[in-house]
Amino acid sequence: MTKLSLLVAVVCMAANASAEVVVEKLTWAGIKMVHADTTVFIDAVGTDIWDGNAPGGLVSLESETSRSYALITHAHNDHFDLYGLKEVLGERGYVIVHEDEATYVASRGLRVIPAKLWVPVSRGGFLFTAVPAVDGFGDSQVSWVISVDNKRYLHAGDTLWHGQWESFGLQFGPFEMAFLPINGAKVLRDPMPESVASMTPTQAIDANLLLRSKSLLPIHYGLDDPPYYVEVPDNLEQLLSEAKQREVAVHPLKPGEQVIHP
Ligand SMILES: [Zn+2]
Repeated sequence: MTKLSLLVAVVCMAANASAEVVVEKLTWAGIKMVHADTTVFIDAVGTDIWDGNAPGGLVSLESETSRSYALITHAHNDHFDLYGLKEVLGERGYVIVHEDEATYVASRGLRVIPAKLWVPVSRGGFLFTAVPAVDGFGDSQVSWVISVDNKRYLHAGDTLWHGQWESFGLQFGPFEMAFLPINGAKVLRDPMPESVASMTPTQAIDANLLLRSKSLLPIHYGLDDPPYYVEVPDNLEQLLSEAKQREVAVHPLKPGEQVIHP
């Protein structure tokens, strides 16, 4: 190999490496995305809030890139890990958060970039856009559209089903992948409602289709704890069999597993 062809090969390898997007499933609803020199955590929880029973196992939060950002859909503790984010973001990272939660997150000692609904925030080669969601307890919650390298992703936290999936699909689709909650949890209250507080497997498939997403990565499942927290039984199995019938591609990654989008 001549020096020139070696140089071309190295440049091509570098170009390919910098274009790929690595998506890693973290514990529960957490997702980690790495592109070029930037790592993005979404609803990442690396602290053991599950008393040793983290669904699928606990994955600690680690970043090997020079820039790190974290997004949260809302500030419930299974989506917002104050101490984990402080440690992994260090002195240089930011939490990008909807403006409703920005003061709270900043008051806990994290550096924040407040975001308005529908207004994209550009950092580290990524575009982050907060879009509406509906929290099962009436708290403030958004979903995040994440654009990078001409690919779009959507992280839906633990939202309820709502009427805007089609408009998200029309506005931002097609998506490369949607990270959607599937456990359809009923959470103990007085009186105990029959209605669920997060999306069911069927609703996740509906949302994925309306979003025009190429694939669905299920999040937020595997924590059945009756009578306090009751999930749709066998939610992952139901998702997989229904997705097959309806021709939806599902990537059920375990915590710590990755998929690479070239
Ligand atoms: Zn949750």
